[in-house]
Amino acid sequence: MRRLTAKQGNDMSKAIRIDGKAMAAELSAKITEETAALLQDHGLVPGLAVVIIGEDPASQVYVRNKKRTAEACGFHSVQHSLAEESSQEDVLALIDQLNNDESIHGILVQLPLPDQLDEQTVTQAVAPHKDVDGFHFINIGKLTSGNTADAFVPCTPAGCMVMIEQHLGKDLSGKNAVVIGRSNIVGKPMASLLLQENATVTITHSRTKDLPDVVRQADIVVAAVGRPNMVGGDWIKPGAVVIDVGINRIEVTVDGEPKSKLTGDIDYDAVCEVAAAATPVPGGVGPMTIVMLMSNTLRAARLASGLSVD
Ligand code: NDP
Repeated sequence: MRRLTAKQGNDMSKAIRIDGKAMAAELSAKITEETAALLQDHGLVPGLAVVIIGEDPASQVYVRNKKRTAEACGFHSVQHSLAEESSQEDVLALIDQLNNDESIHGILVQLPLPDQLDEQTVTQAVAPHKDVDGFHFINIGKLTSGNTADAFVPCTPAGCMVMIEQHLGKDLSGKNAVVIGRSNIVGKPMASLLLQENATVTITHSRTKDLPDVVRQADIVVAAVGRPNMVGGDWIKPGAVVIDVGINRIEVTVDGEPKSKLTGDIDYDAVCEVAAAATPVPGGVGPMTIVMLMSNTLRAARLASGLSVD
């Protein structure tokens, strides 16, 4: 566990910068080692299939990164790119084929889907034991009921949890946590994970009254909203740990030229004046999300072969 007594970071800020990129690289190296051992000891290669439908440019980048990381970890990595106009039947047929492919242990369908496809039908078609995104109702139910021994936890909240635990330790007894956002892929599973580690959890959303006041009570803040720089420094309790899940593309002017850049949901510099630690965007939660997908795929391969998992 990293202690928060020694402040570090850039000159302007007081908070520790939680370096998701470095943490992800460390975890990825560990997964690569475990994958090599799995091959040597059991002749097993974890297989990840990524399905992308359509041409969404952001999704193309995410899928490319996932494939590249899977290959770097030593996985069997396949990508299925379907046309934008693919029918629900086409997509379900592919998922069925992957569900029955023994060389594939994890299946990820990149979201969002084109309008003609029903997201729930597609995500629920992935076999629960290959659902490395953790979106199947079986995995959600296991997480919510605290039965995570053979469950898959959604990658983004799982990555946030690793970052929080590295700073505060595993047991969050006595800590107040506020999650901003209640989506099924981030906010709700994040709250379940924090609750499981004994934090006292509040989930907030667009209908929450006096949100800054609620956030000011938090020792741990997780912002998953999609509104650039929404969380100001004056929302933060001194010494809080702040995790920024948001990815927002904004227009800025650099040397008189319009440019676009990524920013999170927190006003990073202002938050760092008050918080003990905070994640930057980019270089925070994003890289951890990808590496947790690899961790889930390795776990799926071990479970499929009756091997022990953490
Ligand atoms: P959703 O749009 O599904 O959910 C956003 C949540 O924010 C909703 O619960 C919404 O409330 C809440 N919200 C909206 N406006 C406000 C407001 N003014 N005050 C308080 N709450 C508000 O988004 P996701 O959960 O999918 O993603 C959130 C962000 O995280 C996005 O920027 C996304 O790009 C990013 N993301 C990043 C990932 C990564 O790997 N780093 C992975 C996944 C997402 P309500 O429910 O009432 O509408």
